[in-house]
Amino acid sequence: MDIKEIPHLPERLSGLKELASNLWWSWHPGARMLFKMLDRQVWKESGHNPVKVLKELPKKVFESAASDKGYLRHYDIVLSRFNKEIKEDKCLLLEGINERKIHSIAYFSAEYGLHHSLPFYAGGLGFLAGDFIKECSELKVPLIALGFMYPEGYFKQKIREDGWQENIKQLLDRDVASIFRVLDKNGNQIIVKVPLIEPPIHIAVWKIAVGRVPLYLMDTDIEINDPWNRGISARLYTGDLEQRLRQEIVLGIGGSEVLEKLGIKHSLMHLNEGHAAFALLERIRDKVQEGMNYSEASQYVKQTTVFTTHTPVTAGHDIFPFQMIEKYFNSYWPSLGLDRESFLQLGVHPENPNAGFNMTAFALRMSEFRNGVSKKHGEVARKMWHCLWPESSGDEVPIDHITNGIHIPTWIEPKMKLLFNKYLGPDWVEDCDSPLIWELIDEIPDDELWKTHFWLKIKLIDSIRERARQRWVNNRVSPSNILGIGTLLDPSVLTIGFARRFTTYKRADLIFYDLERLKKLVNDRWRPIQIIFAGKAHPADDPGKRILQKICNFARDPGLGGRIAFVEDYEEQFAQYLVHGVDVWLNNPLPPMEASGTSGMKAALNGVPHLSIMDGWWLEGYNGENGWAFNHEESEGNEDQKDAEAIYKILEDNIIPLYYKFSDDGIQNDWVRIMKNSIKSNAAKFSTRRMVKEYINKFYIKELKVVQKA
Ligand SMILES: *Cc1c(COP(=O)(O)O)cnc(C)c1O
Repeated sequence: MDIKEIPHLPERLSGLKELASNLWWSWHPGARMLFKMLDRQVWKESGHNPVKVLKELPKKVFESAASDKGYLRHYDIVLSRFNKEIKEDKCLLLEGINERKIHSIAYFSAEYGLHHSLPFYAGGLGFLAGDFIKECSELKVPLIALGFMYPEGYFKQKIREDGWQENIKQLLDRDVASIFRVLDKNGNQIIVKVPLIEPPIHIAVWKIAVGRVPLYLMDTDIEINDPWNRGISARLYTGDLEQRLRQEIVLGIGGSEVLEKLGIKHSLMHLNEGHAAFALLERIRDKVQEGMNYSEASQYVKQTTVFTTHTPVTAGHDIFPFQMIEKYFNSYWPSLGLDRESFLQLGVHPENPNAGFNMTAFALRMSEFRNGVSKKHGEVARKMWHCLWPESSGDEVPIDHITNGIHIPTWIEPKMKLLFNKYLGPDWVEDCDSPLIWELIDEIPDDELWKTHFWLKIKLIDSIRERARQRWVNNRVSPSNILGIGTLLDPSVLTIGFARRFTTYKRADLIFYDLERLKKLVNDRWRPIQIIFAGKAHPADDPGKRILQKICNFARDPGLGGRIAFVEDYEEQFAQYLVHGVDVWLNNPLPPMEASGTSGMKAALNGVPHLSIMDGWWLEGYNGENGWAFNHEESEGNEDQKDAEAIYKILEDNIIPLYYKFSDDGIQNDWVRIMKNSIKSNAAKFSTRRMVKEYINKFYIKELKVVQKA
């Protein structure tokens, strides 16, 4: 929408327009409060969307706020902070780089998890990208981000009576979302044609400001495109392979053209996963047009590109049949100075040369700075891609690692934040990657931390019950379904959370492996446990949906006492409630499939310890005192059985006795110690602040030096 279309806003509050048009509000509770204070109900019904709130509220609400001293005081403080934090500024971290000599870093990602009002994400990859650009904004890294405006987003999940997932299409109302058309000087939305691709595809450009970082979103749903083209950006990760290829063409080649059209020069490129790798071609083509030959051009592009690979799972790497690539690129490769054969070779997997054009192999070949997203994933990726560097020994395969992190201001719960403010001092957010600051967690009195946590647990369970009540009232589904959504959850019971995408390797149903043993735990009269599940299966993933159905059926099974809940439609907001409010965060993927994982980091930051198999980030996070871990042994026998037994054993021997052990004053001091250790040892290490600084020091600075020299 055009934010200028809010004529009824008094001059005194005109800053609300600027605030609403920058996602900065989403990670600043004070800024969110400004909108909530106007009308709590409208704020809630808008799905926490300030643009909608400003558009919908009548003039008199603003007039009364503009004469309310309390409101104005709060407004002035937030606005002054906002203006300070989004103005352009020098990045102090780019040592030895003359910022006048370099342009920005272009960051490409197929998804961004930013806020629940913007459904442009499917899972962890998106949140990593969203948290990454928020952190770049705070560290003043000169970054420009590119992605998609998906009008249908991912999908809304509804569970049928029989427990099967239904995918409900929900259209984003672009006119009230926090996204804005990018206009040319005549006031028309900028439209870009994807170069050299036949038949032509046109892209409309949207923008959202994420603090200092502009994120440009591409949209193909415009009249000039035929219906097939219009559908390219309809939804995330379409199952149709050719449409998927066209998405990646739009992201990489179209995205580069968008930058060109907007006159935004970039010195470096960072590809978040292989989906955007075609952007490499545009950069090479640019250099060829400037007069370099292919080999010089590709060499230069290589030295100034970062590629981050995010998954060892085979299905996570796109492979397109050669004839499909040929269909779209046969007028493209001549512009690079390449023939058909050498072009197709760029995407060949050496061990499976006939499989097609492999986007990850392509991206790895064409960028010199490559990384996996945890120490372990670095090792796994080096092994997996050894075939691209057959002459090097295994350890020398040039794929580094930078472990993922989370954006602390986004994932810290506001009440917990107030508690940290009190005991860690006012600068803790600024210094959140310094482990020293976190030693002060010990200063928090046990009962204060526990009370804050318990309040969050009640809030979580209240929100689940309210959802169940709404479902009961509105849909008249059967009572057993309502119980399965979590009606019988009890805040005094040890609560385990499990929420993530439902894909088979994540083994959401592992804890049901020995049903009788689990029943004993949930039905214990004095020391019971309860488990809250949430997550979506990809629409094409039937095995994932079957696991989900199985869990829904357990949730409705009276034998499990109403202590298993499956909460529908996992998204960012409910993720916040969950990682803040459960007692233990469970993770049991099949190693080594979890490249990193981030939801456990979000929980740990809020004092929710992790119970996890040794995989992904937990191999770096676990220290013996900050949660629980079990090893996975590859064996002949049934691996699921061994892993499930490890979980039961830890629950029975450690977690349950510890949780229900109260000291004389009624506080679980030993439990709170683990909570504190969880925060103390993980927060700094798994922050995006630490992570982005690593990208700068390991990659960006080296590449910018190449740019400076050129
Ligand atoms: C953090 C997050 C994820 C990623 O979770 P993993 O544990 O890394 O799989 C997925 N979905 C939502 C809504 C999240 O907030």
